[in-house]
Amino acid sequence: MIKSVVHDEARLVQRSQPATPADGQTITDLIDTLRANQENCVGMAANMIGVNRRIIVVDMGILPVAMINPEITKMAGPYDTQEGCLSLSGERPTHRFKTIDVTFLNQNFQKQRQTFTGFVAQIIQHEVEHCNGILI
Ligand SMILES: [Zn+2]
Repeated sequence: MIKSVVHDEARLVQRSQPATPADGQTITDLIDTLRANQENCVGMAANMIGVNRRIIVVDMGILPVAMINPEITKMAGPYDTQEGCLSLSGERPTHRFKTIDVTFLNQNFQKQRQTFTGFVAQIIQHEVEHCNGILI
């Protein structure tokens, strides 16, 4: 179900809790909400729809990919850039890494470990920060 997007920074700075298989509906809602906003949004975290669980969805070109309990384990190639956020207005400066290693559970709660680069890596870093209550 498409959910409304949270803009309240006091809520967005709260750290999210680990997700469990009981959070399946939130994963579906997050994918639906990202799709509904795909013209100006490439990724979302569950707290952006009011659910404080460590779930993110990332637009990887064809389909949105859900990553549950994502952890960035390695970062390389720092750079400075500007980003926007569906929950915030305007663009803001931020610090990112070109290449990251991420461990996460897929939608079937199977453990994954993957390396990401470039724009997809940037989206993941932004969304993982949402899970940690960090805003750009
Ligand atoms: Zn954001």
